[in-house]
Order: sequence, then structure tokens, then C-alpha cells
Amino acid sequence: MSLRLPAGVVFGEEYRNLVSHCKENTFALAAVNVVGTDSINAVMEAAAVNKSDVIIQLSNGGASFFAGQGMPDKADAMVFGAVSAAQHVHLLAKHYGICVVLHTDHANRKLIPWIDALLDQGEEYKKKNGRPLFSSHMVDLSEESLEDNLNESERILRRSVALDMSVEIELGITGGEEDGVGADLDSIDNSRLYTQPEDVLAAYDQLNSIGHFSVAASFGNVHGVYKPGNVQLRPEILRHSQDLVSKTHSLSNNNPLDLVFHGGSGSPEASIKEAIEYGVFKMNIDTDTQFAFAQGVGKFVEENGAAFKHQIHPDTDEPLKKYYDPRKWLRAGEQSLVQRLTQAFTELGSKGKSVAS
Ligand SMILES: [Zn+2]
Repeated sequence: MSLRLPAGVVFGEEYRNLVSHCKENTFALAAVNVVGTDSINAVMEAAAVNKSDVIIQLSNGGASFFAGQGMPDKADAMVFGAVSAAQHVHLLAKHYGICVVLHTDHANRKLIPWIDALLDQGEEYKKKNGRPLFSSHMVDLSEESLEDNLNESERILRRSVALDMSVEIELGITGGEEDGVGADLDSIDNSRLYTQPEDVLAAYDQLNSIGHFSVAASFGNVHGVYKPGNVQLRPEILRHSQDLVSKTHSLSNNNPLDLVFHGGSGSPEASIKEAIEYGVFKMNIDTDTQFAFAQGVGKFVEENGAAFKHQIHPDTDEPLKKYYDPRKWLRAGEQSLVQRLTQAFTELGSKGKSVAS
């Protein structure tokens, strides 16, 4: 437990050390999807009060929303929303006293131009500031052939390494859909929901000598929260991939791969713990944190309904400004999100383990 890193955004060697540290000490970081300063600040607050490091990430839709739904050029919104969000985190994270990994979420084939544009922005940012804009981007070409997936992932990884950045790839399909990226559970072959260890080995062989990458592996995990169905979480799939890579390359490390658990919302704690033992250092959580924010706002509106219809209470003549002030009801959403993340940090074992100094 000796790793110490300066508070703020971590990338490059620091990021790789943080990932190793998580795996060696059998805990994982929550990767929380954000859409604005409210959710970003709540994630940093939750990390600070729980003394946990955290991953802040944006999907293409989250990035667009950050720039504003009314921004005329949607492609620009996706790029500059992400840049703006990243700059916000760079400026504030160190003042929360925790380490933050900055990341983007699923980019399928049609979103690869978004990633290339973010890498262009990252080059500019690095020239000016001496550090990359993001710690890592995700490339999700799991719907393509393995060859196409790995070749394009390799191209993005080469660009990223030049910026001291990492890449997350996806092998096997995470069920469910998120921001228009993902798979309809009814239309795909069930076996594709479980990553094949041979595919993971092929990825390791092609990418490991180029730079740092992590793997979103599928073991029956699903985006969103559904009624329990025919898809079963099988974390042992992760173990098989680790074993194959470790044995093939005679590695002393029995968890050589840095694995990512997508669709963490609604997952049983025992499966989360098992996945962490098999080398998962990052668990994505979005659906449950969206719901937490909505619950907080919903409860506030329910309890103070008059303030959302009248400026002065029609029965008591009380001025209602102190209830409809957005700082009140947005804050209620933030506080509820902080509570949900406290549960996530506890389940992931990251509570009290911040390496920030
Ligand atoms: Zn995902």
C-alpha cells in the first residue's frame, strides 16, 4: 500500500501504477458516466468524502450534453463538450484531494472520428500543458471481426501512446444498449456475450508491446438494469482469459490483463468481488447513478411541489425562492448521487484507499 500520487488527473506511468496497485490490493475503481458539472462535482465530492480515487468518463451523448443540447453542430458538441468537461476536471480534481482518471466511453465504428478528433485536441492540449487531456479512450469495435477490431485498436493505441495515454478495447459484447452503442439482447448469439480467451490472447499478442491497454471483457454483464433474465454473470470467464495469457507467455503475474467490468449497475456484490479477484480494476456505473440523481431531485420536488408551480405560496404567502433556486434541487440530486457512490466504493473496496497525497 505504498503508492502515493499527487492529487489530480493521473495518466501515463502514474495511471499504470494506479491500475497495478488496485489489482495487487484487490479493489477496483468506479468509472462514473457524467453529463455536466453537477454530476462531475458530485463524483469528486463522493471520492473526497470516501477517500477513494475514481474514474470520470463521458459517453458521446454525455459529452454532447456537456456542450449543450442547443449547440448547432452536433459533431462539434461531442468533441468540445468532452474537452470542456476534461478541462473542468483538470482544474478542480486536485482541490478535492483525490486522484481522478479521465476517460471516454464506448466508441463504435461510427464514433471513431470522435476519438480521432479528441486525440487531435489532446495533441494541442499536450503541447500547451505538457500532459494529455484524457488518461484513456475506449474503442469498442466488438461488433466487427476480431481482425478489424484489433487493427483499428492498434492504430488508436499508437496515437495514444505518443500522448502518454492508454486505450480500453472491448472483446465480446456487453449486452444492452447505452447511448446508441451496444447490442439488443434478443438479436445476438448468446455465446458472443461471453468473451473468448483466445480473442483476449490475440489482443495481448498484438497490442502489449505497443503500449498500455485494458480490456472490457464480457462475462454476461449487461448495460442497464433489467429483471433477471436468461443472461447469467460468469466471472470465471475472466479467470480463463488471464490463465491463457499467463501460461502462453510464462508470466509470473497470474492476472496480466487489466480488465474492465461494464454494466456494473444492479450487479450482485459477490459477482463484483469475484470479478475483482480475476483482475478487474474498473467497474462502469451509469444506470444506478442516473437513477440516484433522479431520486434525489424527485424527492425534493415531491416535498416542495408548490415551489415548482408558484413563486409565492398560494395558501401561506411564503416566498418560495429558497426552494426553486436550482442550487437546492440540483444539490438534492448531487447528494443522492454521493450516497449511491459511497455504496459503490464500499462494494468495490476502494473506500479509504485513495493514493492521493
Ligand atoms: Zn459499457
